[in-house]
Amino acid sequence: MTKATAVSIQKKLSKTSDTTAPRLSVIIPAYNNPEMLRKCLESVYDSNYKNFEVIVVDSASPNKAVSDVAKEVNCKLITLEKDYGVANARNIGADNAKGDILVFFDPDIVLEKDTLANFSLAHEDPKVKIVQCQVDNKSLKPGFAADLIAVIWEHQLNEMYPNPSFISTMSCSIDREVFKELGQFNVQLGWGEGGGGEEFEMGTIIKQHNYTIYQNNSFKVHHHFQDFWPRFKTLYKRSYIYSKLVFDKEVSLNSGNGTAHQGINSLLSVAMLPTIVASFVFPPLLLAIPAIILSQLALEPKMYAHILKVRGPKFFLASIPVLHLWYLAMGVGVGRAFATHVTTKTNRTLTWANFFLSETPSYVIFYVNAICNARCKHCFINWDDQEKLSKKALTLEEIQKISKSFGKVKYMSLTGGEPTLRADLAEIARTFYNNNNLEILNLITNGFGPRKIIKDVKKILRWCPKMHIQVHFSIDGIGKQHDEIRVVEGGFDKLLQSVEQVRALQKFYPNLHVGVITTYSKFNKHNIYDIIDYVTLKLKLPLYMNYVRGTTYDRSAKEIDLKTFKDASKVVAIRNTSSQRNRIPRPIDAMNNLAPKLITKLEETNQWQTPCRVGSKMIEIGHDGTIFPCEILNVNFGLIQDFNYDIRKILAQDKVKKFVKDIVDEKCKCTWECALKNNMLYDPSKYPLLAKEYISLLIRKN
Ligand code: SF4
Ligand code: SF4
Repeated sequence: MTKATAVSIQKKLSKTSDTTAPRLSVIIPAYNNPEMLRKCLESVYDSNYKNFEVIVVDSASPNKAVSDVAKEVNCKLITLEKDYGVANARNIGADNAKGDILVFFDPDIVLEKDTLANFSLAHEDPKVKIVQCQVDNKSLKPGFAADLIAVIWEHQLNEMYPNPSFISTMSCSIDREVFKELGQFNVQLGWGEGGGGEEFEMGTIIKQHNYTIYQNNSFKVHHHFQDFWPRFKTLYKRSYIYSKLVFDKEVSLNSGNGTAHQGINSLLSVAMLPTIVASFVFPPLLLAIPAIILSQLALEPKMYAHILKVRGPKFFLASIPVLHLWYLAMGVGVGRAFATHVTTKTNRTLTWANFFLSETPSYVIFYVNAICNARCKHCFINWDDQEKLSKKALTLEEIQKISKSFGKVKYMSLTGGEPTLRADLAEIARTFYNNNNLEILNLITNGFGPRKIIKDVKKILRWCPKMHIQVHFSIDGIGKQHDEIRVVEGGFDKLLQSVEQVRALQKFYPNLHVGVITTYSKFNKHNIYDIIDYVTLKLKLPLYMNYVRGTTYDRSAKEIDLKTFKDASKVVAIRNTSSQRNRIPRPIDAMNNLAPKLITKLEETNQWQTPCRVGSKMIEIGHDGTIFPCEILNVNFGLIQDFNYDIRKILAQDKVKKFVKDIVDEKCKCTWECALKNNMLYDPSKYPLLAKEYISLLIRKN
């Protein structure tokens, strides 16, 4: 940027004083290409609308001139240490925005003088919260391919009018509060050049939240569109990402995202190559070539008519082979997405086999910290053992190394202390989801920090879309009783806030289960049925009863009455399954219902129920890296740090193998539900009982 240009922009800046209009936060993600960014910024500051701020998020551009351009105009510049894609940059811009309306622009667009005013005007209608505008049908970057893209974009935005199904982040605006409610752009889908999956996903989320995107074609921006080959690559990547989302049933085919016609056209382009080759052997096949081209024209008549109308016959004829090749790129993308989908499906089926055959435990309980904002009387953590509790918790980097040493993890409980007191809880969940194909995550929380809980749960849901997430709140009493057991004044009210906020997310996420865990102890045995009624009938949530265990903080907690536990468990089983609220997969619910029966039998008869598989099929990771088999015995296998963070190495020790053999040979027994549920999976003698529970669940639900 020349000094003169910088000064002229600064002068315009000084006039931005109209504070009666809504304040806009213009967010521009930038990566290299300072010249385009300069043009974009110049046009923003040249607007006749004055009440705005500009946030440029530079995703670690190697070209330092990008930051220089932003610094010269004195806008808010955020420089990231690493490039995590445009979706991430936009999210960070939104986090730092102060305006009422967020306006997202790509750095390669140029605004008209009234573009900002028009965005602001569109939001004057109270029902309008999300707007996108038209794009000029002449590319700022010269060239045939770039102009062809511009014409097609114009056509597509016309087709999407008035309510597109996906959001075009090239130039759009979103009410800031609505953006907060929607959550953020999905960083994993918006990665790299030609990303764009986050735009499709955001379109679906907008619909789920009952909002509408308004396509306003009365104003436009100008865009530097791509040349032929960059477009070829972008279309390949985009169609791969989009088709993957369609195959995975995360978005649906529609006129905004992509249609069946476009899919068929892509396949026709893919079919062209073998047709040409085969025609050397069988010449009549040459006739199929014009037939394919005519079919492609016939499938998209409006688009070709628009090209003809806007650019005339020469341009139209030249566009046919170019579009044919771009369809080919899309066809290859669709094919790759299909192959990935089939492979993933097959792998998922095989993971059930892995669950039984895996060399590393498929069930992991991870104590992510040793701090808590409660002091529950029935807690089995010794809060006076400062030496143990003050040990440093594993860092996220260490956890990532541990995760990589595990094979498939089917089920993981994140607990603590209070797990949501850990800042990077969602990142931990994402680590196991990405590295270990984690299928079910169980998050156990006391619910005393609503804001952090909702933030964590939202992040996990967005980052781990295929995972089943169970959020279990601990409720041990009603109102003051709960506060007294948990030793937290006012805790019950905060807990209810958390329950309501997390439960509200179920509307948008069918993979989210919300339930309650009640620890049956001396402190609630007298009114356990009131608590069951409160949770299952008033809160309308499924409930799971835990039998107080271990050495409790208040030693008297275990003075309980077994018959009440047995009878109450029966009521709980019926209540849980008599409604559709329960989103726990049925086989797991069958295990949940069988566990209290085994506990009761064990307590009544003192008879061993099932071989224990802790140490081989199930493992616990302490906050400091201690690996231990169960929370009942005072046994540990050592610190994983001493084994290069490798679970296989720690489990390969002779003392571990001996432990695993001894607990089976010596018929070790206890009432710990988690171990019992896991053990029954590896004990064929329990399969008839499980089948019986499963069938009664089916009967009760129907
Ligand atoms: S039971 Fe849970 S919430 Fe209560 S003190 Fe123990 S760790 Fe904290
Ligand atoms: S039976 Fe209970 S106490 Fe024994 S090893 Fe298994 S979980 Fe631990």
